[in-house]
Amino acid sequence: MKLVFATANANKAAEIARLLPNTFEIVTLKDLEVNEDIPETAETLEGNAHLKAQYVTEKFGLPCFADDTGLEITSLEHRPGVRSARYAGEHRSDEDNMKKVLSELEGHSDRSARFRTVVALHLPNEKLEFEGIVDGEILHEKQGVEGFGYDPIFSPEGEQRSFAEMSMDEKNAISHRGRAVKKLVDHLKKISC
Ligand code: IMP
Repeated sequence: MKLVFATANANKAAEIARLLPNTFEIVTLKDLEVNEDIPETAETLEGNAHLKAQYVTEKFGLPCFADDTGLEITSLEHRPGVRSARYAGEHRSDEDNMKKVLSELEGHSDRSARFRTVVALHLPNEKLEFEGIVDGEILHEKQGVEGFGYDPIFSPEGEQRSFAEMSMDEKNAISHRGRAVKKLVDHLKKISC
């Protein structure tokens, strides 16, 4: 079954391709030659995930799933949340986003945080949502070079290492997106048999 993953992020596509059974052919926005940014104008992760999936099903008539992720930091009233990509400005710089978070957390003893992913799946007969959460904390400085986004400053619960010090498989096994995608995969397996 051909299924579009509405992302332009090659890292995320690679992460997810490893988790899906090969009965599904994953097509990305690049494969569909969609070069514009799909509007992410909703105020929630759920809203943005559905906006992205809907854009693809309307334009190409293909089943699609889309994800939206936010880093929710307790001491910062759950910011950056839905604004995680552009926290330090429209230029979407991972470096600047991390710097901003580290500077805002100076003086806060509670560094607890979580990543939350919402996946929206749009099939011809149904629209569903799957959520994945990983709890952890924000480190005092960057550690590691793997991954992307806020990975160097986020350490999941029970670990000393940051996500950026883990292999893709180690991260997938416990990550927010890994957990949401596992729920998506379980559902897709159910409907494909
Ligand atoms: P998106 O909704 O997945 O595009 O992510 C929004 C923001 O969260 C972007 O700045 C990403 O870099 C960041 N982000 C998403 N997933 C992860 C992750 O697994 N690790 C670190 N940062 C992430």
